[in-house]
Amino acid sequence: MHDKVRSFLIPVYNRAPISFERGAGSTLFTADGTGYLDFGSGVAVNALGHGHPRLVDALVKQARKLWHTSNLYASPQQERLAQRLCELSFADRVFFCNSGTEAVELAIKAARRFHYVNGAPERNGIITIEGAFHGRTLAALTATGQQKYLEGFAPLPGGFDQVPFGNLAALERAITARTAAVLVEPVQGESGVRPMPPGYLRNLRALCDQHGILLLIDEVQTGIGRTGTFFAYEQEAIPDVLATAKGLGGGFPIGACLATEAVGAVMERGTHGSTFGGNPLAMAVATEVVDMISAPAFLARVTRASERFFAWARELALHYPQVFSEVRGNGLLMGLKCLPPVSDLVALAHEEKLLCLSAGDNVLRIAPPLIITNAEIDDGFGRLARAVARLAG
Ligand SMILES: *Cc1c(COP(=O)(O)O)cnc(C)c1O
Repeated sequence: MHDKVRSFLIPVYNRAPISFERGAGSTLFTADGTGYLDFGSGVAVNALGHGHPRLVDALVKQARKLWHTSNLYASPQQERLAQRLCELSFADRVFFCNSGTEAVELAIKAARRFHYVNGAPERNGIITIEGAFHGRTLAALTATGQQKYLEGFAPLPGGFDQVPFGNLAALERAITARTAAVLVEPVQGESGVRPMPPGYLRNLRALCDQHGILLLIDEVQTGIGRTGTFFAYEQEAIPDVLATAKGLGGGFPIGACLATEAVGAVMERGTHGSTFGGNPLAMAVATEVVDMISAPAFLARVTRASERFFAWARELALHYPQVFSEVRGNGLLMGLKCLPPVSDLVALAHEEKLLCLSAGDNVLRIAPPLIITNAEIDDGFGRLARAVARLAG
């Protein structure tokens, strides 16, 4: 064994021993030119793949003009993208930030502030779902509620309650006169690609209306075309507030919190802010991303690609019942629940020059660029099948 090279990074990540120098479409290249097919897209971020010419152009063009002005001045770039996002969704108001956790943080703040402004400051409780992942700031982490992420970080903010996955009766029992909102992911990504049961979000919407509480949907991972609709909520229920991020910048850091007029309006001047949020570079790239992904033909292609992925995944699971026990997901966010350790399969896939993700519940997570071609899907499953065959031994 070689000694590990001394690292100057705070060691929070479990990094694979590969690094990349450039990317093109659905392929990443190491410094020696070896290509890896990307079935993970940097955790559902590179929605348009790597080095998309329209995104590169948008970024370079903006880089020559202006990088940063702060939010002290009017921003036509933010106005344009916010209008576009509102036209494409339930929302009337948008706030731009830099990450998913910040978008969730604002969703939580806005929900509490909504009830405060409407004369019910005691309504500050947020109900979340077991297995959730909402990010790493202290509030988003508390909303996440998973012990493995929380350990050692007490004291945590109060006002969070968690209910079992998929159980609407339990959720209703958890609602009290102090409840402000429910926060939910349409598909739980990090904890194992677990879609909410069919009808769950629709019934949850009705429950929220009945109790006068807000529905906050976390689409940091499922948003921006990932599930075949621009937002996943469109398939079932309309939120009051939505957090999104990952795919929105196609790799440029950006998050957004979308809200109805009623909720957006309570976040008055001075109640929130971000130095970098809505940066012109982020706006230029995200505007291109949104234009391309929201095109009906693009979204229809995502659904067709998804069908091809699921067909392959089901076939693989059928061939290797000793490796896979379940195939689940929505659109191009797929999970294959593994029997052997998923980390072994991810490592074997690397040897086949295929990048996949793992998720909780021992799940192999596949979240390719949305532009992935049929030929690349077939090629990727060929590589995955070879890795699985080696694993099955
Ligand atoms: C990734 C993720 C987050 C956190 O996003 P960051 O950009 O890492 O802060 C929050 N919610 C969901 C559903 C996510 O998948």
